[in-house]
Amino acid sequence: MSLIQCPYCQSTHVKQTDSSHANANYFEQLQRCISPTQMALFGMQLAKKAGFPPFTGAAIGVVVGGVLVIVSQYCYEKYYSNAKQYICQDCHQHFAWAQS
Ligand SMILES: [Zn+2]
Repeated sequence: MSLIQCPYCQSTHVKQTDSSHANANYFEQLQRCISPTQMALFGMQLAKKAGFPPFTGAAIGVVVGGVLVIVSQYCYEKYYSNAKQYICQDCHQHFAWAQS
């Protein structure tokens, strides 16, 4: 018998959840990390160092940020296609557990 443990607190009090909710949560966090505004600012800083006009840098930053989101979305779906989503009933963290 294999027990599923919470990766955060090692508790075995876990419950399977609706996977769509956990996915939405993940992408919300991701898009907060790689927001177009932040990527534009990052691109402008790089452009300043490289001697490009800031507008060009901002445009490049937004494009690169968009590509990063798409690539990570693809990797996430590939990696978690066989995984089930769980929530820990002790520390309330969401996590994915891949069934072998
Ligand atoms: Zn836990």
